[in-house]
Amino acid sequence: MFYNSTRNSGVKVSSAEAITQGISVEGGLFVPEEIPALTLDEIKAVGEMKYADRAAFVFSKYLTDFTDAEIHYCTDNAYSAKNFETENIAEIAHLFDGTYMLELWHGPTCAFKDMALQILPYFLTTSAKKINLDKKIVILVATSGDTGKAALEGFRDVEGTSILVFYPEDGVSPMQKRQMKTQEGENVGVCAIKGNFDDCQNGVKAIFTDSDVKSALDAKGMIFSSANSINWGRLVPQIVYYVSSYAELVKDEEIALGDKINIVVPTGNFGNILAAYYAKKMGVPVNKLICASNINNVLTDFINTGVYDRNRQFYATVSPSMDILISSNLERLLYIMTDRNDSVINEWFGKLASEGKYEVSDDVKSQLSDEFWAGFCDDEQTKATIHSIYEKYSYTCDTHTAVAVKVYNDYKTATGDMTKTVIASTASPYKFSAAVLEALENGRSDIDEYSKVDRIAELSDIPVPSALADLKNKPERFNDVIDKSEQKDYVLKTLGIR
Ligand SMILES: *Cc1c(COP(=O)(O)O)cnc(C)c1O
Repeated sequence: MFYNSTRNSGVKVSSAEAITQGISVEGGLFVPEEIPALTLDEIKAVGEMKYADRAAFVFSKYLTDFTDAEIHYCTDNAYSAKNFETENIAEIAHLFDGTYMLELWHGPTCAFKDMALQILPYFLTTSAKKINLDKKIVILVATSGDTGKAALEGFRDVEGTSILVFYPEDGVSPMQKRQMKTQEGENVGVCAIKGNFDDCQNGVKAIFTDSDVKSALDAKGMIFSSANSINWGRLVPQIVYYVSSYAELVKDEEIALGDKINIVVPTGNFGNILAAYYAKKMGVPVNKLICASNINNVLTDFINTGVYDRNRQFYATVSPSMDILISSNLERLLYIMTDRNDSVINEWFGKLASEGKYEVSDDVKSQLSDEFWAGFCDDEQTKATIHSIYEKYSYTCDTHTAVAVKVYNDYKTATGDMTKTVIASTASPYKFSAAVLEALENGRSDIDEYSKVDRIAELSDIPVPSALADLKNKPERFNDVIDKSEQKDYVLKTLGIR
């Protein structure tokens, strides 16, 4: 299996090269040249395996330049009891009849990003070895809150790597900020940007593709890579849990082999839902992919009209990890939907860069409406949803997951579709305790973040994740705040180049 770039189909690299480079030289994203197919029997067999082996099975289809031993080295280290608080790694909770919560937040940082970022360092160091890359790998991350912490935990003290994370100063939850400021490890750095997530991400993308920076790094024996979901090594682990959850539902006799399910994903950068799309194209029987947004609803409009327009107000919401106006992974979807037409992708994404807007072809519009359904909700509706599912089902969900539940309810009302449905539950409610507690009992703004955690623990049956409980006693190590124009200098200075 080789990988092409969405902006140059002539690029052809191995998975090890795609993973170490992160993004292609001309700015395109790496995409496997074809989507491998699974038979229903293969999917069923996945249900008999433990999670690490399920992952290894899916990876064997995509990372064909890795040996079995290399793949198992990665999966066994990443998906073990030392990193996840549940033996099954991803848990399925029954919310109500025919609706299942796929809990992806039992890892060390309590959000679904751990599913990919626990394994990415193993992919990356294994890939570097395979292509004889004798350089220190520098990971630059732009984060809307969860990726940064998950990447820091994944890469901390991993030999041959260092990691630098940028987050929007006022765009993350207090718990997320505290998680990052207290990060341990000798090879880590964290810095706040006066700006929003898109500013952080644009800065990082510009530094990645800056040839001066690249050659300065090269001279120092370093190379950049990315832990954002533009890296294929981030995306492929996310395909696993959709295959896995389907197999699990078959095994538990909740569905029959071959029955279709819907998948609902609270979406920001379009990485998680794109992984669900890949799972569908591999052969997992999926009816609709339901794309749930908060009021930064650029994707809702796009899926419903075919016009992507980022020229709009940016809102800070109670679901900050979805506060994004440029969803990078959409580029991969459109590349597939245009039959890998790199020139049209260059045209559209060129327009996005210059005018902030593009419109896809009629053919792509009709594929979008066949495969996807999209909706959004505001903060009040998000909190009302947390409240009502707590009241009705004694289940406490976080603000991002609540957006998915609300949009799913809207989908059912609009379509009457009663197909069984998996909702991606992307974070622990404790990670967004202020908003969750406000939703559960209207207020309590008088108490600190940790008391809010304790109060949620009294109300719900979900135990407080130890990683969050331990934060209370950790010293803050990183307090830098810079202007977005200073990002490049900051990187060079931190790496000892300038
Ligand atoms: C990152 C994140 C999302 C959005 O996922 P994308 O892959 O960026 O679409 C949703 N919920 C939570 C909790 C997240 O951390």
